[in-house]
Amino acid sequence: DPYPIRLEGIVQHGFGRGSKDLGCPTANLPDESTTHMASIARPGVYYGYARVYPANEQISELRPEDLVVLPMVMSLGWNPFYKNERMTAEIHVMHQFNSDFYGCDMKALVLGYIRPELDYISREALIDDIETDKKVSLNSLARPSYGKYASDSFFSSPG
Ligand code: ADP
Ligand code: MG
Repeated sequence: DPYPIRLEGIVQHGFGRGSKDLGCPTANLPDESTTHMASIARPGVYYGYARVYPANEQISELRPEDLVVLPMVMSLGWNPFYKNERMTAEIHVMHQFNSDFYGCDMKALVLGYIRPELDYISREALIDDIETDKKVSLNSLARPSYGKYASDSFFSSPG
């Protein structure tokens, strides 16, 4: 059992492929942060916890409630920029942040697998599936055995 899988890195700009249009912004982690997970896990959608740590210029914008351990869904997928030779991790945090947090350190504990990546025939089908993923994540994290991970010492300081 490979879980929990630990991820940590500075949030990067992605391709801006319209995650925000889908109501699902995804914080992109650098490839170095994904190497370990990519070597032991398959592409797909995962659930777990994440926490954002403020960069200096962000302190005034992010509120205390933005800087706690929060539930997330994560996509581990092939990165077209590297001709699909590398995997990339994108994390949607289930929280309404006060601002973007590019350049901030982020940590994540990946706790389980939800489904493989699928090709979507329509934008509506994709949006439906994302909504299902969020419910699956919250239901899974509500199990008593997962509560301890939200207070894991892994999250107590940035990387
Ligand atoms: P990009 O292609 O640059 O990753 P996105 O549309 O996926 O663009 O937006 C991701 C950015 O949105 C993150 O890097 C972060 O700064 C911001 N953001 C705001 N709210 C969230 C959230 N709930 N989960 C993840 N990222 C968020
Ligand atoms: Mg993104």
